[in-house]
Amino acid sequence: MKQLIFIGPPGAGKGTQAQRLCSKLSVPQVSTGDMLRAARKAGTELGRKADEFMSAGLLVPDEVVIGLVRERIAQPDAAAGFVLDGFPRTVAQAESLESTLASASKQIDDVVLLEVPDELIVERITGRRVGETSGRIFHLKYDPPPSPDRGEAGERLLQRADDREDVVRKRLAEYAALTAPLVAWYANKGLLRRVDGVGALDDVTASLFRAIGVN
Ligand code: AMP
Repeated sequence: MKQLIFIGPPGAGKGTQAQRLCSKLSVPQVSTGDMLRAARKAGTELGRKADEFMSAGLLVPDEVVIGLVRERIAQPDAAAGFVLDGFPRTVAQAESLESTLASASKQIDDVVLLEVPDELIVERITGRRVGETSGRIFHLKYDPPPSPDRGEAGERLLQRADDREDVVRKRLAEYAALTAPLVAWYANKGLLRRVDGVGALDDVTASLFRAIGVN
C-alpha cells in the first residue's frame, strides 16, 4: 500500500510524472485540478464556484477541495494506495488529510517535491495549447502541433484561461504564499523527497523513481 503526495509549483510537470508513477504502481491518480475542471465542464454548482477562483489564478477554498478529496480516496480503487497530484496545497488541507487518513489507519509514505525555477515555469505554461476536439496538449516550442497554429486534423488550438502570463504569475505567488510552507511541514515529518524537475521527461521520471525507492 502506497500513499503519495506530489507538491511543486504549477507547471512543474506534476500531472505527467504522477501519471507515470500511477501506472508503475497500479494506483489511481487523484488530481484536484482535474476534478475541479471536470466539475466546471459539467456546470455543477461546485464547478461554477471553483471557476471564479481558478480563472483568477487563486486557490479554491479549502473546504471545497477537502470534501472532493475525502470522497475520492474513500472509493474502492483507492484502497490499495493513491497518488495525490495538486493536493494538499495549504497547511490546512494537509492537516485535514492527515486526520482523514488517521481515521482510516492510513498514512502518507512519501511527499515528492518537484522543483522547477519560476522563469522556466512561465515559459512552459504560457506556451501550452490544448486541441479543441482531441484535448491533446501541445507546447508551441517543446511539443509543437503539426502546423503552427492548428492541432491534429486542423483543429483549433485553445489556451486555458489560467495559462495566460498574468494568471501564471498570480498562481506562482499563491504557491509561494500558501503552498511553499508545506515543504518545511513535510520535511519536519521526514517525508520530503526532492526531485529536480528540469530536464527530459524520462530523466525526471528516473530521478523520481529513485527518490522514492521504486524500480
Ligand atoms: P492544477 O491543474 O493542479 O494546476 O489546478 C488548477 C487550479 O485548480 C488551481 O490554480 C486552483 O485554482 C485549483 N486547485 C487545484 N487544486 C487545488 C487545491 N488543492 N486547493 C485549492 N485550489 C486548487
